Amino acid sequence: MPPFVELMDTIAALLDDARAAAPPHQRDLYSRIECRKGCTACCYIPLAVTAVEAIAATAMLLRDEAAVARIRTARAQPNGAERWRRRIPCMLLHDGACAIYAQRPLPCRAYVSLSAVRCDEALASGDSGELLAVPTLDLPHEHATELRAGIRAACSAEGLQDAHVELGSWGWPIFSNAIAIAHRNEGATA
Ligand code: SF4
Repeated sequence: MPPFVELMDTIAALLDDARAAAPPHQRDLYSRIECRKGCTACCYIPLAVTAVEAIAATAMLLRDEAAVARIRTARAQPNGAERWRRRIPCMLLHDGACAIYAQRPLPCRAYVSLSAVRCDEALASGDSGELLAVPTLDLPHEHATELRAGIRAACSAEGLQDAHVELGSWGWPIFSNAIAIAHRNEGATA
Protein backbone atom coordinates (compact mmCIF):
# COMPACT_ATOMS: atom_id res chain seq x y z
CA MET A 1 0.00 0.00 0.00
CA PRO A 2 1.43 3.47 -0.86
CA PRO A 3 2.74 5.12 2.34
CA PHE A 4 0.51 8.20 2.14
CA VAL A 5 -2.56 5.98 1.74
CA GLU A 6 -1.47 4.08 4.83
CA LEU A 7 -0.97 7.37 6.68
CA MET A 8 -4.43 8.61 5.74
CA ASP A 9 -5.93 5.25 6.81
CA THR A 10 -4.22 5.68 10.18
CA ILE A 11 -5.57 9.21 10.47
CA ALA A 12 -9.09 8.02 9.63
CA ALA A 13 -8.77 5.38 12.35
CA LEU A 14 -7.64 8.05 14.82
CA LEU A 15 -10.76 10.09 14.03
CA ASP A 16 -12.90 6.99 14.61
CA ASP A 17 -11.14 6.39 17.93
CA ALA A 18 -11.73 9.99 18.96
CA ARG A 19 -15.39 9.59 18.13
CA ALA A 20 -15.59 6.39 20.20
CA ALA A 21 -13.89 8.17 23.11
CA ALA A 22 -16.06 11.30 22.93
CA PRO A 23 -17.65 12.42 26.22
CA PRO A 24 -21.35 11.55 26.70
CA HIS A 25 -22.74 14.96 25.68
CA GLN A 26 -20.70 14.82 22.45
CA ARG A 27 -21.79 11.22 21.79
CA ASP A 28 -25.38 12.42 21.86
CA LEU A 29 -24.52 14.96 19.15
CA TYR A 30 -22.82 12.25 17.06
CA SER A 31 -26.06 10.27 17.14
CA ARG A 32 -27.81 13.26 15.52
CA ILE A 33 -25.52 13.42 12.46
CA GLU A 34 -27.61 13.62 9.29
CA CYS A 35 -24.86 13.01 6.69
CA ARG A 36 -25.94 10.14 4.43
CA LYS A 37 -24.91 8.65 1.09
CA GLY A 38 -26.55 10.76 -1.57
CA CYS A 39 -26.25 14.02 0.43
CA THR A 40 -23.88 16.06 -1.70
CA ALA A 41 -24.25 19.72 -0.65
CA CYS A 42 -20.83 19.82 1.04
CA CYS A 43 -19.19 18.59 -2.18
CA TYR A 44 -19.76 22.03 -3.70
CA ILE A 45 -17.76 23.85 -1.02
CA PRO A 46 -14.18 24.97 -1.80
CA LEU A 47 -11.90 22.16 -0.66
CA ALA A 48 -8.34 22.87 0.46
CA VAL A 49 -6.22 19.76 0.99
CA THR A 50 -2.64 19.02 1.94
CA ALA A 51 -0.37 17.45 -0.66
CA VAL A 52 -0.46 14.22 1.38
CA GLU A 53 -4.27 14.09 1.08
CA ALA A 54 -4.09 14.87 -2.64
CA ILE A 55 -1.56 12.06 -3.22
CA ALA A 56 -3.61 9.54 -1.20
CA ALA A 57 -6.73 10.58 -3.14
CA THR A 58 -4.84 10.13 -6.40
CA ALA A 59 -3.64 6.65 -5.42
CA MET A 60 -7.23 5.64 -4.68
CA LEU A 61 -8.51 7.22 -7.87
CA LEU A 62 -6.02 5.31 -10.02
CA ARG A 63 -7.59 2.04 -8.86
CA ASP A 64 -10.96 3.00 -10.35
CA GLU A 65 -10.94 2.71 -14.16
CA ALA A 66 -14.32 4.39 -14.58
CA ALA A 67 -13.28 7.36 -12.45
CA VAL A 68 -9.99 7.61 -14.36
CA ALA A 69 -11.91 7.67 -17.64
CA ARG A 70 -14.17 10.46 -16.33
CA ILE A 71 -11.23 12.58 -15.18
CA ARG A 72 -9.45 12.10 -18.52
CA THR A 73 -12.37 13.66 -20.35
CA ALA A 74 -13.15 16.28 -17.69
CA ARG A 75 -12.31 19.92 -18.07
CA ALA A 76 -10.16 21.92 -15.66
CA GLN A 77 -12.26 23.42 -12.89
CA PRO A 78 -12.35 27.03 -11.68
CA ASN A 79 -11.07 27.91 -8.22
CA GLY A 80 -13.09 26.99 -5.15
CA ALA A 81 -14.91 30.30 -4.69
CA GLU A 82 -15.98 30.37 -8.31
CA ARG A 83 -16.93 26.69 -8.18
CA TRP A 84 -19.20 27.42 -5.21
CA ARG A 85 -20.67 30.51 -6.87
CA ARG A 86 -21.54 28.51 -10.01
CA ARG A 87 -22.50 25.40 -8.03
CA ILE A 88 -19.97 23.17 -9.75
CA PRO A 89 -19.38 20.09 -7.59
CA CYS A 90 -16.05 18.51 -6.74
CA MET A 91 -14.86 16.54 -9.77
CA LEU A 92 -14.73 13.39 -7.64
CA LEU A 93 -18.47 13.42 -7.07
CA HIS A 94 -20.28 10.99 -9.34
CA ASP A 95 -23.90 9.83 -9.18
CA GLY A 96 -24.26 11.26 -5.68
CA ALA A 97 -21.22 9.44 -4.29
CA CYS A 98 -17.55 10.22 -3.72
CA ALA A 99 -15.22 8.29 -6.06
CA ILE A 100 -12.57 8.12 -3.34
CA TYR A 101 -14.83 7.82 -0.31
CA ALA A 102 -12.41 5.63 1.69
CA GLN A 103 -9.64 8.19 1.06
CA ARG A 104 -11.72 11.37 1.13
CA PRO A 105 -9.71 14.33 2.46
CA LEU A 106 -9.95 15.44 6.07
CA PRO A 107 -12.27 18.43 5.48
CA CYS A 108 -14.78 16.02 3.89
CA ARG A 109 -14.54 13.69 6.89
CA ALA A 110 -14.78 16.55 9.33
CA TYR A 111 -17.72 18.45 7.81
CA VAL A 112 -20.40 16.70 9.79
CA SER A 113 -23.87 18.18 9.51
CA LEU A 114 -26.63 18.07 12.07
CA SER A 115 -29.18 19.26 9.51
CA ALA A 116 -29.37 17.92 5.95
CA VAL A 117 -32.20 20.39 5.31
CA ARG A 118 -29.97 23.35 6.18
CA CYS A 119 -27.21 21.93 3.91
CA ASP A 120 -29.65 21.79 1.00
CA GLU A 121 -30.95 25.28 1.80
CA ALA A 122 -27.39 26.64 1.83
CA LEU A 123 -26.70 25.02 -1.52
CA ALA A 124 -29.88 26.43 -3.01
CA SER A 125 -29.53 29.89 -1.47
CA GLY A 126 -26.83 31.27 -3.74
CA ASP A 127 -25.30 32.88 -0.65
CA SER A 128 -22.11 31.34 0.72
CA GLY A 129 -22.90 33.00 4.06
CA GLU A 130 -25.73 30.48 4.42
CA LEU A 131 -23.12 27.79 4.89
CA LEU A 132 -22.28 29.32 8.25
CA ALA A 133 -25.84 28.70 9.36
CA VAL A 134 -25.54 24.93 8.88
CA PRO A 135 -25.24 23.34 12.32
CA THR A 136 -22.16 21.12 12.29
CA LEU A 137 -20.28 19.09 14.85
CA ASP A 138 -17.21 20.94 16.16
CA LEU A 139 -15.22 18.01 17.54
CA PRO A 140 -14.34 16.24 14.24
CA HIS A 141 -13.41 19.60 12.76
CA GLU A 142 -11.09 20.36 15.69
CA HIS A 143 -9.45 16.94 15.49
CA ALA A 144 -9.02 17.20 11.72
CA THR A 145 -7.48 20.67 12.07
CA GLU A 146 -4.94 19.33 14.56
CA LEU A 147 -4.15 16.32 12.40
CA ARG A 148 -3.62 18.49 9.35
CA ALA A 149 -1.33 20.79 11.31
CA GLY A 150 0.66 17.65 12.15
CA ILE A 151 0.79 16.58 8.50
CA ARG A 152 1.99 20.00 7.44
CA ALA A 153 4.61 20.18 10.20
CA ALA A 154 5.92 16.72 9.25
CA CYS A 155 6.08 17.71 5.56
CA SER A 156 7.85 20.94 6.42
CA ALA A 157 10.37 19.07 8.61
CA GLU A 158 11.11 16.76 5.65
CA GLY A 159 11.47 19.67 3.21
CA LEU A 160 8.27 18.66 1.39
CA GLN A 161 5.36 20.75 0.09
CA ASP A 162 3.40 21.84 3.18
CA ALA A 163 0.86 24.27 1.68
CA HIS A 164 -2.80 23.57 1.06
CA VAL A 165 -4.04 23.23 -2.51
CA GLU A 166 -7.64 23.78 -3.58
CA LEU A 167 -8.89 20.54 -5.04
CA GLY A 168 -11.16 22.25 -7.55
CA SER A 169 -8.43 24.24 -9.25
CA TRP A 170 -5.55 21.85 -8.56
CA GLY A 171 -7.32 18.50 -8.57
CA TRP A 172 -7.65 18.30 -12.32
CA PRO A 173 -3.95 18.87 -13.12
CA ILE A 174 -2.88 16.62 -10.22
CA PHE A 175 -5.14 13.77 -11.27
CA SER A 176 -4.58 14.22 -15.00
CA ASN A 177 -0.80 14.19 -14.61
CA ALA A 178 -0.94 11.17 -12.29
CA ILE A 179 -3.12 9.31 -14.80
CA ALA A 180 -0.77 10.21 -17.66
CA ILE A 181 2.29 9.06 -15.68
CA ALA A 182 0.58 5.81 -14.63
CA HIS A 183 -0.33 5.05 -18.25
CA ARG A 184 3.16 5.90 -19.45
CA ASN A 185 4.66 3.56 -16.85
CA GLU A 186 2.22 0.82 -17.84
CA GLY A 187 3.31 1.28 -21.47
CA ALA A 188 6.97 1.08 -20.46
CA THR A 189 6.50 -2.20 -18.59
CA ALA A 190 4.14 -3.81 -21.14
S1 SF4 B 1 -13.48 14.49 -2.22
FE1 SF4 B 1 -15.38 13.28 -2.19
S2 SF4 B 1 -16.44 13.85 -0.26
FE2 SF4 B 1 -14.85 15.41 -0.68
S3 SF4 B 1 -15.90 17.06 -1.81
FE3 SF4 B 1 -15.02 15.65 -3.35
S4 SF4 B 1 -16.67 14.18 -3.82
FE4 SF4 B 1 -17.22 15.22 -1.89
